[in-house]
Amino acid sequence: MDNPLLEMNGLPPFSRILPEQVEPAVDHLLTVCRERIGELTSRSDLPTWESFVEPLEQVDDRLNRAWSPVSHLNSVMNNDDLRAAYNACLPKLSAYGTEVGQNRALFEGFRAVVDQEHLDPSQRKLLENALRDFHLSGVDLPEEKKARYKEISQELTKLTSRFDENLLDATNAWNKQIKDETALAGLPDSALSLAKQAAEERGMEGWVLTLDFPSYLPVMTYADDRNLRREVYQAYCTRASDQGPHAGEWDNTPIMERILELRYELAGLLGFGSFAERSLATKMARSTDEVKGFLGDLAERSVIRARGELQELARFASGQQGPEELESWDLAYYSEKLRQHRHEITQEELRPYFPVPRVLKGMFAVVERLFDIRIQEVHGVETWHEDVRFFEIRDAGGELRGQFYLDLYARQKKRGGAWMDVCTNRFHTSRCDQIPVAYLVCNFTPPVGERPSLLTHDEVQTLFHEFGHGLHHMLTKVDYPAVAGINGVPWDAVELPSQFLENWCWEREPLDLISGHVATGEPIPEDLFRRMRGAKNFQSAMQMVRQLEFAIFDFRLHLEYDPERGARIYEVLDQVRDQVAVMKPPAFNRFAHGFSHIFSGGYAAGYYSYKWAEVLSADAFSLFEERGVFDKDTGRAFCENILERGGAAEAMDLYVGFRGREPTIDALLRHAGIAA
Ligand SMILES: [Zn+2]
Repeated sequence: MDNPLLEMNGLPPFSRILPEQVEPAVDHLLTVCRERIGELTSRSDLPTWESFVEPLEQVDDRLNRAWSPVSHLNSVMNNDDLRAAYNACLPKLSAYGTEVGQNRALFEGFRAVVDQEHLDPSQRKLLENALRDFHLSGVDLPEEKKARYKEISQELTKLTSRFDENLLDATNAWNKQIKDETALAGLPDSALSLAKQAAEERGMEGWVLTLDFPSYLPVMTYADDRNLRREVYQAYCTRASDQGPHAGEWDNTPIMERILELRYELAGLLGFGSFAERSLATKMARSTDEVKGFLGDLAERSVIRARGELQELARFASGQQGPEELESWDLAYYSEKLRQHRHEITQEELRPYFPVPRVLKGMFAVVERLFDIRIQEVHGVETWHEDVRFFEIRDAGGELRGQFYLDLYARQKKRGGAWMDVCTNRFHTSRCDQIPVAYLVCNFTPPVGERPSLLTHDEVQTLFHEFGHGLHHMLTKVDYPAVAGINGVPWDAVELPSQFLENWCWEREPLDLISGHVATGEPIPEDLFRRMRGAKNFQSAMQMVRQLEFAIFDFRLHLEYDPERGARIYEVLDQVRDQVAVMKPPAFNRFAHGFSHIFSGGYAAGYYSYKWAEVLSADAFSLFEERGVFDKDTGRAFCENILERGGAAEAMDLYVGFRGREPTIDALLRHAGIAA
C-alpha cells in the first residue's frame, strides 16, 4: 500500500498526509497489530522480556507513529475532511485499545514475565504498570461487563472529540467588526495591530475582534468601553452552550452530562465508587480524602486574603469613577489599572523586551546551562505550516537526544491553549534506536507585518512551561516507550518539570538571557525588573482561589456523581464558588462548557494535579534558591533524577532522589506570597 502514514521510519510526512489515506492506514495497522498479538500469545515457549514485551512495545510504537501526526494535525490544522477521517478512526482505536487491555492471554504473558529475574527497575516498573492497566481495562470482568466496558470507552472517545469540535467551532464562529477606532479606546498598539490584521485576513474594513485568546485577553484587560468588554466576555464564556450569541448551536450540555454518566458507570464496572476513585488508581495521591484535604487546606489559607484583595480592587475601582458593583468583565480591567497604580507596571511595558527570537535563544541558553545540552535549529524539515520551526537537542558529548517542532502563533482552525505532545517516543533496544520527538504548541500573538512577535511575560512563562514538558519527554534515558518521558508518570506529578522551569522567568540572570529590547537590545532596566518582581504576587490569593475553584469543582463533579440526580454541573459549581470564589460570575456564564481540560483532556478528576505538582516544583526550585539558579550540580541532579527517569520509578522515590527528602508545602506558600 502506498500510504505515507505507513512509512516505517523518520519524521512524519506532514505535507503528504491526505485525509482519505487516514482510515485505510489505521485499518491496515490495526490488522497488523492484531495479527502480531495473535502470534505472540499463541507461542508455546515461556514469554520473556525480549520475546514478548519488546515486540509488543514495537506494535504500540508503530501505531503511535502513524496516529500521532493525524491527531496532531486535527488539533492544529483542522478541516472538515480531516475531522471526518479522524472521527472515523476513533471508535476503531478505542475498540482496539479495550480489546488489548482485556486480552487474558496478553495479561498472563505479562504476569509470567514479571516473575522472572534479571529485569532492570524500569522494566519491572513497566510490567507493574501494565498489569495495573489490564485490571483497569476490565481484564478480570465477566464477558458481558467486558463488552459494556468496550461500548462505554468507544462512546466516551466520540463524545470527548465532539466536545472539542463544538468548542472550536463556537470559538471560530464569533467575531466583531469595529469600524470606529474610538470604540477600541484603551487597547494597546499590539492588540490594535492584531485586530487590524484579523480584519485584513477576512477582507473586512477596520478592526476585527475574535475569541482567540490573544484577541480576547487584551479586550478584557484594556478596553475602556464597558459594554464592549461585557459583549466579548459574554461571547467567550458562553461558547458551546445554551447561552450567548450562538445559544444552542454547538451546545455541549448533553455531551457533558453523558460523559459524566458514562465515566461513573465505567468506574462502577471496575468496582470503584466514583470516577474520582478510578482516577486516583494511577496517581500519586492515595485517596480522595487526601486530595480533598489538600485542596481544602490551600483554600482555607487563601480565601480570606483573596476576598480582601477583591475588596481592595472594588474600592480602587470606585475611586476611579468605576461601577458601583464590579462585574466579571470589570475584573481584569480594574486589576490591570490597580497593578499599574500600585506597582507602576503593565504587561505591555515588558512586551518590547521579549521579542520571540530573543526569548527562544535565551530560553535555550538557560536550559543549556542548567542541563548541559545544546539546542540547534534544523532547516529543511517539512512541517504543517510555514510558521513552524524544527530543532534538535544534543548532549555535551554531541549525542542526539531529541527533536521538536515549535508552533507558536494563534491562527484560525487551531485549537486554543498551549501544550506539548508526543510525536515519537524514545525506544532503544538491540534492534532499534528511536529518539524522542515532541510537538510544542502555543497560541501567542502572531508577528504583525515585519516586526517580530513581542511576548508578554505571561506568554514567556507559558513557553517555559511547555518546554519543561518537552525536556521531560526529550531528555529521557528510559529505553521503553511505555515508561519513557512523560509516559507512565502519574498525572499529578507530570506538571513538576513544567512548573519548575517557569521559575527561571523571574530571576535576573536568566532574564538577561531571554530578554532584550526589540529596538535597542537593552536588558530590562533594574528599576523595571524591581517593579516586575514587586508585582509578582499581585492578587496571588485571587489567582490561587481561581485555580482551587477549578480543581475542587472537577474533583467533586467526579466524586459526587449520583445517577439518580444526574451531574448537577452548575449546582456543584455554584456550591464550590460559594466556598472559594471571591466573585460570582453572571448567571449566563457557562465556564464548564469550555472546560476542555476535564471534559476532553486528560484532567478528569485530576485538575488538582497542577496544585499538587506545584508543591513539588516549588520545593524543587527552593534548592536552586539555596544554591544558585544555575548551580551545575543541582541542575544535573534534577536532570538525572527527574527528567531522564520518566515513569521508570515511583514519582515520590524519584523526587526524594533529587531533593534528599519528601517535599513540603512551605516553598509553594512562600512563592505565592501566602505563607502564614
Ligand atoms: Zn502543563
